[in-house]
Amino acid sequence: MRLCDNTALELAQMLRKKQCSAKEIYLDTLQRAIEKQDTLNAYITFNDDAEKAAEAVDRKIAEGKELPLIAGIPIAVKDNISTKGSRTTCASKMLCDYIPPYDAFVIEKIKNAGGVIIGKSNMDEFAMGSASDTGYFGAVRNPVDCNYSAGGSSGGSAAAAASGGAVLSLGSDTGGSVRQPASLCGVVGFCPSYGTVSRYGLIAFASSLDRIGTIGRTVKDTHLLHNIIYDADIKDVTAFYKNYSFNLKGALNGVKIGVIKELMSCYMEDDVRSSFMSAIKLMEENGSVVKEISLPDIKAAVNAYYIISSAEASSNLARYDGIRYGYRSEKCGSLSEMYKNSRSEGFGDEVKRRIMLGTFVLSEGFCDDYYKRAASLRRSLCAGFDEAFQQCDIIAAPVYPKAGFKLGESAVPAEVYSADIFTVPSSLAGLPAISVPCGKNKEGLPIGLQLIGSRFCDNKVFDAAYGYELIGGGYNG
Ligand code: GLN
Repeated sequence: MRLCDNTALELAQMLRKKQCSAKEIYLDTLQRAIEKQDTLNAYITFNDDAEKAAEAVDRKIAEGKELPLIAGIPIAVKDNISTKGSRTTCASKMLCDYIPPYDAFVIEKIKNAGGVIIGKSNMDEFAMGSASDTGYFGAVRNPVDCNYSAGGSSGGSAAAAASGGAVLSLGSDTGGSVRQPASLCGVVGFCPSYGTVSRYGLIAFASSLDRIGTIGRTVKDTHLLHNIIYDADIKDVTAFYKNYSFNLKGALNGVKIGVIKELMSCYMEDDVRSSFMSAIKLMEENGSVVKEISLPDIKAAVNAYYIISSAEASSNLARYDGIRYGYRSEKCGSLSEMYKNSRSEGFGDEVKRRIMLGTFVLSEGFCDDYYKRAASLRRSLCAGFDEAFQQCDIIAAPVYPKAGFKLGESAVPAEVYSADIFTVPSSLAGLPAISVPCGKNKEGLPIGLQLIGSRFCDNKVFDAAYGYELIGGGYNG
């Protein structure tokens, strides 16, 4: 077994026992990432400063300094999270030469803790998609079977962590983009409560939904990285809640688990359904109490999500006008021609589709029928979740209707969108949720179990997921 195949916690112990150096861990992980790059396409850019960061950790260890457990651990960062001096493209031609002048809040936290940022991972353009195939740098392939998609939009982060090309990763989750690729690649992906992790430096897709999440091969590893990045931040007014660090116990006894009736009547593959049912049964056998709950508004969640997220995207992406930064077309006769050509050439099809949809739902005469109705559905869904959490501690659901899908499989946008039914409800409500491996389908593709908590109860979500992992859930890829 190579160094890069260990978990972050194992590596942290090895570093402390001086069984290896941070530089050795970094070089081995980089080597794996490079070996896999041609097949997986998980990275867009490798970080030139990573070796120096690893050496700095080794120096501190030699001086006998006590370091956070994350020190010396190689971390992949989704390419929509700003890294000072290192290109941050959002997988878009629009930003393909953009070098941020500052670090995102989460990057500052990681660097201060001694984490080694190995590179910037591939994704869907501006995080819009479910297959990591809408970006300018090509699609990401699944490490379990490279004919299949790694999922999206944080496909590069999930594929890197699953293949040993990173030990941990950061992704972003607006409607499922950390949980879904984690499920498809057989790793753990956590999306925190909205308001606990600063979005400062995360390039905006839909500001009221965007969250930065963590990916690892175990619940504890995922938790380790989350504990470094969450904090209140004055630079993001919505990040106000200071959670607290805690030790995972993994207690499942007496935990009330709700299963949403309306979600279980949605389409999902047989293997997805049976893995989900076995996971629930296993938790029940270990002392959890499973009960059916009802959330009727959930059926309209996909519509509301695509209206709200596209509306916000159309406004957020208006800044890419070819003037201040980003791609500028060479065909610029007049000012309006410059806007038009820069945006037409700089954005890909999926991003343009969302900008058009978003502009439409906000336009006069249509706003009440679309945007305002979606916003009111969102409020009522939040109230429904509040009520549901009076009856249970955790809600369990599948992550995605399919265990996987082949790259290039022709798909109509509306069908791809509707497959987000299991992840977007908690996105609209800002709730913490995790995807933890719970089995495989007949072809050996991983399947994830989703556990959702009430707002700011991130700890309960981690604890239930850890409990599930302890009783034999998980994926032994
Ligand atoms: N699949 C969803 C979408 O395309 C989720 C994206 C995300 O969470 N960034 O919008």
